[in-house]
Amino acid sequence: MRVIPEPFRIKMVEPISAISAEQRQQALQRAGYNPFLLRSDEVYIDLLTDSGTGAMSDRQWAGLMLGDEAYAGSRNFFHLEQQVERIFGYRYTLPTHQGRGAEQILFPCLIERLRQRGGGQRPVFLSNYHFDTTAAHVELNGAQAINLLTPQAFDTSHPYDWKGNFDLPRLEQAIAEHGADNIAAIITTVTCNSAGGQPVSMANMRAVYQLAQQHGIAVVIDSARFAENAWFIQQREPGYQDHSIEQIVREMYQYGDMLTMSAKKDALVNIGGLCCIRDDEALFQAVQVRCVPMEGFVTYGGLAGRDMEALAIGLQEGMDPAFLRYRIGQVAYLGERLRQGGVPIQTPTGGHAVFVDAQQLLPHIPAEQFPAHALACELYLEGGVRGVEIGSLLLGRDPHSGLQKPSPMELLRLTIPRRVYTQAHLDYVADCLISVKQRAGAIRGLRFSYEPPVLRHFTARFQPCPG
Ligand SMILES: *Cc1c(COP(=O)(O)O)cnc(C)c1O
Repeated sequence: MRVIPEPFRIKMVEPISAISAEQRQQALQRAGYNPFLLRSDEVYIDLLTDSGTGAMSDRQWAGLMLGDEAYAGSRNFFHLEQQVERIFGYRYTLPTHQGRGAEQILFPCLIERLRQRGGGQRPVFLSNYHFDTTAAHVELNGAQAINLLTPQAFDTSHPYDWKGNFDLPRLEQAIAEHGADNIAAIITTVTCNSAGGQPVSMANMRAVYQLAQQHGIAVVIDSARFAENAWFIQQREPGYQDHSIEQIVREMYQYGDMLTMSAKKDALVNIGGLCCIRDDEALFQAVQVRCVPMEGFVTYGGLAGRDMEALAIGLQEGMDPAFLRYRIGQVAYLGERLRQGGVPIQTPTGGHAVFVDAQQLLPHIPAEQFPAHALACELYLEGGVRGVEIGSLLLGRDPHSGLQKPSPMELLRLTIPRRVYTQAHLDYVADCLISVKQRAGAIRGLRFSYEPPVLRHFTARFQPCPG
């Protein structure tokens, strides 16, 4: 098959270069064997995250010049609001500084609404899988975050098209168990980041919404990767092959009442977020009241006018089928190269990242010595490539017992920024990881030399375990 090249040509470049192997060794030691503590200049190919790391288009950069920096009523806000209504069909829009900004102004209002209705004694949120900041905002508001992901997702070697789906029987069970009057919302995360950027099917979104409607429960769509999810539906779900991405997105959002969005992913901006509500004016007013002290006045929510313009344009560009084919194809290409090289990965590959199964690759390293984190360190030493652990280290300890929470998977995430790296960069990454695999038996686990009490993965320091 003929390779499909990048659907853009490059108009501006940012030089990158690799430091020597010896310098990488020194840098990693200085960083306490934690790639989060490296300086970006010490990294050659940075696959830490796809959040805010994408490249804007010439049209978005042109949009920056059209910024209307009025404190109230900026014309860029109205453009953004109009785009949201056209794309998602939601009437009310609040810009926020990023996704977590939307979470912090919406979630307390949802809990408050339960109480106004006489419920909410033990508030819970149900999700296919809460993203980490999403779970944090649920817990900060005194509620419980419950994940109800399909069990198919946990077997990385077994291909399944919809590893982001809710486990519907367990969702029904959880509603019965907690009572609808304690459920602040059901959060449908598209795509499901924590399961490996795995999509949720339209049928699953529809079934979740029907169930929610029967019980009078609100559905929030956590929308960071809405366009990638729509692409997977178009490619995989019977009946959607002839639908445009726009039509699919429009239908997806019929199965929700509101959305929170980190615009740093599919909406192709370096900073920004959204909190949008379909038609519930009373809820919108309550969220507006919180927005002003937390994020900013309701027509800017922590963003400059120019940033809102770039976001309004990015929402549309993110749905371009030529872009999505290249983007998802690039992730699949890296996955395929690794698979051919004998590196075990989550299959099929997801939307934004390749997840390497470190438990399988490094079976001699127990979970409490963080095999995926050790693999991240080795990949950096090998070629200056930075990935991130998604496993026991990220999950942390149970706040009550102080014991390590058991993680179903030990994954190394190689996250691909949008429109930034070419196929040659990904070939280099695959070659490095395949070389690491060849000396897998000699890789040692890591133990803490400093363990912070919360969100430990960002600032922890480590030492190699004795060999
Ligand atoms: C990134 C992300 C968030 C949080 O957004 P920020 O912009 O990082 O604050 C929430 N949910 C999902 C699914 C995400 O991927």
